[in-house]
Amino acid sequence: MSTPYDKYEPVIGLEVHAQMMTKTKAFCGCPADFHAPPNTNVCPVCLGHPGVLPVLNSELVDCALKMGLATNCSIRENTIFARKNYFYPDLSKGYQITQFETPLCFEGHVNIRLRDKSVKKIGITRIHMEEDAGKSIHDFSENDTLVDFNRCGVPLIEIVSEPDINSSDEAYRYLYKIRQILVYLGINDGNLEEGSMRCDANISVRRKGDEELGTRTEIKNLNSFKNVVDAIEAEMKRQTELIESGGKVSYHTMTYNAKDKTTSHTRSKEEAHDYRYFPEPDLVRLHVAAGKIAQVKTSLPEPPDARTLRMTGQYALTEAEAEEITAEKPHADFYEAITSKLGSKDPKTYRIASNIFRVDIKRILNEQKIGIGRFLLSPAVIARLADAVSAGEVSASASREIFAQLLSAGSSEAEQISMFDDLVQKYRQVSGESEIEEIVKSVLSQNSNEVERYKSGEKKLAAFFVGKIMQASKGKANPRIVNELLIKNLEVNN
Ligand SMILES: [Zn+2]
Repeated sequence: MSTPYDKYEPVIGLEVHAQMMTKTKAFCGCPADFHAPPNTNVCPVCLGHPGVLPVLNSELVDCALKMGLATNCSIRENTIFARKNYFYPDLSKGYQITQFETPLCFEGHVNIRLRDKSVKKIGITRIHMEEDAGKSIHDFSENDTLVDFNRCGVPLIEIVSEPDINSSDEAYRYLYKIRQILVYLGINDGNLEEGSMRCDANISVRRKGDEELGTRTEIKNLNSFKNVVDAIEAEMKRQTELIESGGKVSYHTMTYNAKDKTTSHTRSKEEAHDYRYFPEPDLVRLHVAAGKIAQVKTSLPEPPDARTLRMTGQYALTEAEAEEITAEKPHADFYEAITSKLGSKDPKTYRIASNIFRVDIKRILNEQKIGIGRFLLSPAVIARLADAVSAGEVSASASREIFAQLLSAGSSEAEQISMFDDLVQKYRQVSGESEIEEIVKSVLSQNSNEVERYKSGEKKLAAFFVGKIMQASKGKANPRIVNELLIKNLEVNN
């Protein structure tokens, strides 16, 4: 059924603020960790006392360069910083140092995979460096607002996308990709909920087929993937309903209310000149030499897309399997720690290791709500398990049993491997034909009634015998050999 919404499409651009994991703040020597007790990581520079001078943290420049190069941006060799002036209680300086007309990185792109598996290119308009403001804490008491200045001067990069995003799902996938790249580069911890990544969304809607853009609004400070998706849906609905009822969308800064899933106006949108941007007089022009750019480029860690591609070839994984493993860098690192310890380097063993990781290990992570960093078993013991399955030493079902029992092993690798060796002895698959044939014969002689019924045509009793034989072998008999020998013995007696 078609609804009025089907006639419209949204046009979305995202601005992502990401905190850089540098040791010190952007323009002073204070630690950049804002989890410290309130107002302990502060100094006259980040508080903006009169007469102090900022000094640019070169680590911040390296971080911004890494992100720019990893997202295919051009790099501006000569840039300046600007002051963005506004009053807010948690901004004691009265301005933020940022980049305005000359962002360090510009005109890049990332590729995202859409739901239908096709790939879409999303443009990156610019990536610039700036400092964060402090934090107002309103929920401490009813009548007071407290201010924590630890976050003042914490280094950020702002990644601004082109308005190339046309649904909340695409916004989700774009944001996921940006987060993934930041984490792979080791410059951000990817934790939206704790505020080390924040997102603003610019949204307008237009009739499908129209070239012209509608008037946009901006939703500020979205701090989870779910809120980004829900806020975009809510704002699309609000704008569409407004237009359908004859109204007009006007520029506004919006806030998203997660409780009732609505967006509402905060204040009328400031135009750029309201911030009275001007060149920061206390910092010299930043020159990034071509040699420096080349050096950062060669030092970049392998980005997620390239890693996925390499892993499909190297480990004989499907693209979907490799993508599932590389989605989180620590997962890809763990899987490759397993593969590096495998005794057998054939594709079958790599795939068994992938199955153990994607099915058994991820189930435990979900059940225990833990990250891979807190997973008990070492990659070495998982590698031994994969090798044992690959060599036919233990069956697939026995390997699951071994995995489950290993989880009660101690935390040291030596303890785990010693327990693994005992378990393999216990569950070792019996493939010796004479050993299995003995069990087959004994089961047939103990169930002579069923043998007669089988011979008179009840062929489905084969499953009954297999069950009995597996039981008698305590699950260790190789099922393929059991089947062969069972049929042979039943037919011979015929
Ligand atoms: Zn400071």
